[in-house]
Amino acid sequence: MHEPLAYYLTKLQTLASVGTKRDKFYKKLVGERFVDLLWHLPSQLCFRHRIDHIKAAPENSLVTLEVTVELHQPSLRKRSPYIIYVRDSKQQKLELLFFNAYASFLQRSAPEGKKIAVSGQLKKDSNREGIRYQMAHPDFMGPVTEIDKWVGAERIYGLTAGLTRSIVANAVDQVIEKAAELEEWIPDSKYPSFLQALKMAHNPQSYDNLAVTDIARERLIFDEFIAYHLGLAISSSRPKSATLKSIASYDLANRLEDSLPFKLTAAQKNAIAEIRGDMQSGAQMVRLLQGDVGGGKTLVAVIAACDVVDNNQQTAILVPTEILSRQHCSSIGKALEPLGIEVALLTGREKGKVRDNVIERIRSGAAKIIVGTHALLEDSVVFNNLGFVVIDEQHRFGVDQRLRLSQKAKSAHILSMTATPIPRTLVLANHGDMAVSVLNEKPAGRKIIQTKVISADRLNEVVEQLTNVMNRGNQVYWVCPLIEESETSDYAAAVARFEMLKSIFGEKVELVHGKMKGLEKDTAMERFAEGEATLLVSTTVIEVGVDVPKATVMVIEHAQRFGLAQMHQLRGRVGRNDMQSFCLLLYGQPLTFQARQRLEIMRDCHDGFKIAEHDLRLRGGGEIIGTKQSGVPKFRLSDLVQNEPEEAKVLEDLFAKAHSIAMEIFKEDPDLVSPKGLALRQLLVLFEKDKGEQLRKSG
Ligand code: ADP
Ligand code: MG
Repeated sequence: MHEPLAYYLTKLQTLASVGTKRDKFYKKLVGERFVDLLWHLPSQLCFRHRIDHIKAAPENSLVTLEVTVELHQPSLRKRSPYIIYVRDSKQQKLELLFFNAYASFLQRSAPEGKKIAVSGQLKKDSNREGIRYQMAHPDFMGPVTEIDKWVGAERIYGLTAGLTRSIVANAVDQVIEKAAELEEWIPDSKYPSFLQALKMAHNPQSYDNLAVTDIARERLIFDEFIAYHLGLAISSSRPKSATLKSIASYDLANRLEDSLPFKLTAAQKNAIAEIRGDMQSGAQMVRLLQGDVGGGKTLVAVIAACDVVDNNQQTAILVPTEILSRQHCSSIGKALEPLGIEVALLTGREKGKVRDNVIERIRSGAAKIIVGTHALLEDSVVFNNLGFVVIDEQHRFGVDQRLRLSQKAKSAHILSMTATPIPRTLVLANHGDMAVSVLNEKPAGRKIIQTKVISADRLNEVVEQLTNVMNRGNQVYWVCPLIEESETSDYAAAVARFEMLKSIFGEKVELVHGKMKGLEKDTAMERFAEGEATLLVSTTVIEVGVDVPKATVMVIEHAQRFGLAQMHQLRGRVGRNDMQSFCLLLYGQPLTFQARQRLEIMRDCHDGFKIAEHDLRLRGGGEIIGTKQSGVPKFRLSDLVQNEPEEAKVLEDLFAKAHSIAMEIFKEDPDLVSPKGLALRQLLVLFEKDKGEQLRKSG
């Protein structure tokens, strides 16, 4: 490693002003290395006024002035301050206060009778004896010749207990002073060099210099984005693997398509073609299938699975919930068993003999398509020849589950599906250069789901209307919200609503919630799916994926408690046929401004992508549910989740630009061995994105 870079990586601890004493505070605030401190940019500005005399000072302001030292009064008791009395040019008295003072230092810096400069927060105090001026712990006290250093714009750093403004500022200056230029990794740009940008960013002169549009800040933010994308590209790049067989026959898929009562949408055909292209390429497919709810993603996956079966390999379909896995298994089974394809189910509920049998059929390769929850990830599940993995509602799986899966599926193609539309920024952020197919078209004949925002006071009217709906042979979902404070009240609310509706509609009402036993849940779901029950009361367990085409009404109680994306998912449970469907958003009082705004977005907006973007923007606005799902990566120099739309736009553009630059570099020089590549290695090291590279190199 060459010298200038090593300097940036030096431990802060080695600075005398940090040492072991303050090391822990810095660790908490910024990190351990010099460069970590340098990325801690000023968060605010203040202005220090040069004044002639005290009475000219703005109230409670930071001032710098020349004074004459009159008298030192050492601390009389413990905890009482050491006081230095001074006078300004108009003989106005000022007290400089020092607690826990180091007397001989004070005497040296401010000898009695001498003119000195002081700078600090001026405080005006009035009591019975009149007005008194004080300055506690001046920021500066020293020779008059240095007065100019203590005037003008001054940066303010975010702090943590144990560190003060001037301690941090001094440490930054000290580190910057000895830093050297690094080999440039964005040559020929409008930007100042990395070091120059750091210097400028730490020396703001106006509020404009604090904005993300400031050229110095922009450069640093851009650097971090580039490092991020490049790191992601390197760590997720996949070598071509000989174990992947390319698929030659579409026989089963064609037969399946012929058996369908409808035609594939153009978007579905397109996605299938993209998937087939990937599977032919000889490299591992890692593709995200993104599509609004009801777009028919499952069918796309099943058709691809048919191709894999044709190739004599297995497909695992990983789904986030028990209910959904059962539903998928039964609908996929209905479609594929006539073609002679064995579909198996494995969830945490399959136990004993049943489980042993399923596991055996997976191991022997008899089961061709295996639908399951994360139970599929257990070590005891060994596939015979896994060729394809589908992750349905992939955002519902945690990082470590996805990792475990990729271990199991080392040489399998991977298709992740999500109905939570992800804005481009987030796709880039979480999936790097993952290929994306989009289902942006609903099957023909689907109508927009009419959405109404209704006060909970009007519950009786709502119930009345449901009678008509159900008499017409249609079905209703009724969702009660998750209540954060206690898990029991979560289903208690659903149970209470169930009881009430049952007293009106009798046996037609079913209940599903997370606390129910598996079998009970299945029975209830089945009765609803088969149309024996026409009203299903539930908690949010039905949020994802469930497909009952005859359902036309979705009632969401306490809708204000839901995240936009989640409401959109719920709404997507209806409108799955050519009838007019409705979504009724019931809200309780009081409704905050934010909450009303969100309900109105839901009423007016039917495009999942737009909703997802609103969702990101409105985060932090008191939303309980869904925040964890956002998956926005954290950056040191910027925050992609911003409430300020203009800044957000700038950052998103920069983020996308960094992505294309990183991809270009990666294509040109994947091993980073060209001069520019070598320069970029420094960037990866600085932002600690070099792990991926090491991983790749080692295996
Ligand atoms: P999602 O994309 O939300 O997972 P699903 O895969 O659950 O959507 O599909 C929704 C419904 O649409 C299912 O009942 C499915 O059989 C049906 N479907 C899928 N493709 C089509 C199509 N091309 N035309 C009509 N209905 C379709
Ligand atoms: Mg689905």
